[in-house]
Amino acid sequence: MLTVKDLPNLSGKKVIVRVDFNVPIKDGVIRDDNRIVAALPTIKELLSKNARVILMSHLGKVKHKLKDEDPAKFEKQIRDGNLAPVAARLSELLNKSVKFVNVTRGAELEGTVAALADGEVALIQNTRYEKGEEKNDAELSAYWAQFGDAFVMDAFGSAHRAHASTYGIPAILKEAGKPVAVGYLVEKEVANLTRCVTVAAEDRPYVAILGGLKVSDKIKVIESLLNKCDKILIGGAMAFTFLKALGYKTGTSPVEDDQLDYAKNCFLKANGKIVLPCDTVISDAFDPAERTTIQTVKIADIGDAFEGLDVGPETRKLFADEIAKAKMIFWNGPMGVFEQEEFQKGTLAVCEAIAANSKAFTVCGGGDSAAAVKQFGYKDKFSHVSTGGGASLEMIENDGHLPGIDVIR
Ligand code: ADP
Ligand code: MG
Repeated sequence: MLTVKDLPNLSGKKVIVRVDFNVPIKDGVIRDDNRIVAALPTIKELLSKNARVILMSHLGKVKHKLKDEDPAKFEKQIRDGNLAPVAARLSELLNKSVKFVNVTRGAELEGTVAALADGEVALIQNTRYEKGEEKNDAELSAYWAQFGDAFVMDAFGSAHRAHASTYGIPAILKEAGKPVAVGYLVEKEVANLTRCVTVAAEDRPYVAILGGLKVSDKIKVIESLLNKCDKILIGGAMAFTFLKALGYKTGTSPVEDDQLDYAKNCFLKANGKIVLPCDTVISDAFDPAERTTIQTVKIADIGDAFEGLDVGPETRKLFADEIAKAKMIFWNGPMGVFEQEEFQKGTLAVCEAIAANSKAFTVCGGGDSAAAVKQFGYKDKFSHVSTGGGASLEMIENDGHLPGIDVIR
């Protein structure tokens, strides 16, 4: 797999770079520019090679069927998806002018690209303004691909989607014999996540920690990790589906009844590898305004009118002991409702235990779990915190394969 570093001097060459500039924007103001900062090493590398850099990204969701069904809502999506503030921020970060192309097709785009000089940067408007983007439309892919003499994939957060800008363009350029490569961000993500799926002997014991909301969202991750890990610690809401499947009363805890058979079979098949909570922090209401009590109980003692919202102290200790023994750790999914202060302890305990195990290779992947790690100030304690929520999980599920990366390979 070529990386951006392997590309030769690119004087006179136009390089299309798919970046992930899907940043949170409110009222035209960028709330967190991490993703823009994360793309800088690749952009700078290309500039040092004298390339003419054409950046493409999506921003937010655009549902094209709303165009007829609810034109006002459609227009709002288009306004919210405007990449103009990103171009301005990128220009500040690069200390260099960035030509913003406020369209995804036509004369303005074609003119800007044709006039681009060596070492100049253009950012094209939101790829999802095009209906064909998410469909990997052949005509759209070919239209965009004509602008590039090379392609660099650096949008890890979009690499699990085979869209026109993530798959169609590189497939066409590769077919035409033009260089396609991954950028620094994707290279780092692939290296770290691949280590979690092709497990070396020195990385054992390998412990996975799974939590979050739904078993059904994570079945493929569980299956993949069951084959690779030595222990799987399960917390979060997900644990209650397993506990109910094993005959425990789970009160009003979120349980997926259609996954009970799966959970039971999975637990038996795992043959002792799966570790479930032994105690839990329960409440009579999820909503703090309606809440009258919070209690810590053994798993066997959850009352009918109560739901488990975090793992309890004995479970935190049990999980921390397993984490302390591990040589490699992959973590996805919070242990409790970490958005509420009363139910942060389980997720914090995992952060602390991982931080305390300085010998292990430690990776966190998943949107909410990575957000929790950052919120609690533990990002630097991990070997790697993935920038791609869905993409990092699919990477684990598919043994290191993602469409947007395989096409480069
Ligand atoms: P990730 O994005 O890391 O893959 P998920 O999206 O699967 O994680 O789950 C995150 C959500 O799970 C959080 O919003 C958290 O509040 C919720 N959650 C975790 N434990 C519980 C619980 N016991 N009851 C209800 N929600 C929970
Ligand atoms: Mg999530």
